[in-house]
Amino acid sequence: MHSFEFVRPENAAAAIDLAGQAKTAQQGADVRFVAGGTTLIDLMKLDVETPGRLLDISRLPFDKIEDMPDGGLKIGATVTNGALANHARVQRDYSVLSQALLSGASGQLRNMATTGGNLLQRTRCVYFRDTAMPCNKREPGTGCPAMTGSNRTLAILGTSDHCIATNPSDMCVGMAALEAVIHVQGPRGVRTIPISEFHLLPGDTPHRENVLEPGDLITHVTLPPPKKRSRHVYLKLRDRASYEFALASSAVVMTLTSGNISYVRVALGGVGTKPWRSPEAEAALVGKRASASAFRQAAEAALHNARPQSENKFKIELAKRCLVHALQTAANA
Ligand SMILES: Cc1cc2nc3c(=O)[nH]c(=O)nc-3n(C[C@H](O)[C@H](O)[C@H](O)COP(=O)(O)OP(=O)(O)OC[C@H]3O[C@@H](n4cnc5c(N)ncnc54)[C@H](O)[C@@H]3O)c2cc1C
Ligand code: SF4
Repeated sequence: MHSFEFVRPENAAAAIDLAGQAKTAQQGADVRFVAGGTTLIDLMKLDVETPGRLLDISRLPFDKIEDMPDGGLKIGATVTNGALANHARVQRDYSVLSQALLSGASGQLRNMATTGGNLLQRTRCVYFRDTAMPCNKREPGTGCPAMTGSNRTLAILGTSDHCIATNPSDMCVGMAALEAVIHVQGPRGVRTIPISEFHLLPGDTPHRENVLEPGDLITHVTLPPPKKRSRHVYLKLRDRASYEFALASSAVVMTLTSGNISYVRVALGGVGTKPWRSPEAEAALVGKRASASAFRQAAEAALHNARPQSENKFKIELAKRCLVHALQTAANA
């Protein structure tokens, strides 16, 4: 691992000031915040990330989960994935998020991994993680060997001719179905970003993964007030039962009124280049009777634009069945 300076800023303003001196907040950043370190230190050991300065934000006061006056929930950026998954209100009112978090990584990792860090975790594409290989995301313009190489676990939605990397997060998929809002403090002040606008599609700039600029510190995430009597399901399909990333996953928040779907939010994981909210599936469901045929139609709509590669065509049917099963489970709950 290359050498770097480790700094522990006294407060958020000092952290933002130091990080604001970076050239970029995207791939190749020379200054990085570090929280749990479970993504960043991993990538530094592989020389995929080579920041000269690490700013430890783990002791800044962003470790609380608080009720908001409007009935929503405020989640500090350094709240661990374990604490969030096991929080009483998250389990009661935002169960899809708790289920998503508990399906991820391992107990030990969840005790280190943070909310802010999970929002920014990087793809598991093997070429991205191997500096001996070309990769447009790591080194723009070098090419994408995954197109003709190992792409079984990679994305089928939101891909481009330059990158087909999957966003591996479970937490973000649960948050997408809950319409979470990300709060950022940076050199230009404070701003809020709906999670649907936070991650970027790869297009011809796959090294740009989100809307953050140098110095931008995620301070917290808010969830809107919970939908009354909503049913929550997160279903994750993967190669082994634990400690594995999703091949396909579905997050569903649904409300039934006299057997009809009166409210529904659908997000997919393991198949998109970003956490994949599906307005197409939602439109196919809302107002319909909760039935196997409505669920299948929603799944067809959600995967309509899927673009598979040589090894991952199976994901189309897998993701459809995953969503149908999640919708059925929610309806039966
Ligand atoms: C073996 C293994 C298995 C895993 N399995 C899963 C899984 O099944 N599902 C899943 O969802 N995840 C999984 N993960 C990923 C894990 O959830 C993430 O590594 C973790 O959430 C990242 O959080 P962190 O606090 O450790 O981030 P760090 O490594 O500290 O930081 C990650 C990035 O976020 C930036 N950052 C952190 N906090 C902030 C902030 N507040 N503001 C701005 N930037 C910030 C850092 O600069 C860095 O670029 C796995 C990880 C490992 C190592
Ligand atoms: S899919 Fe993206 S991350 Fe993977 S090799 Fe291609 S450009 Fe790199």
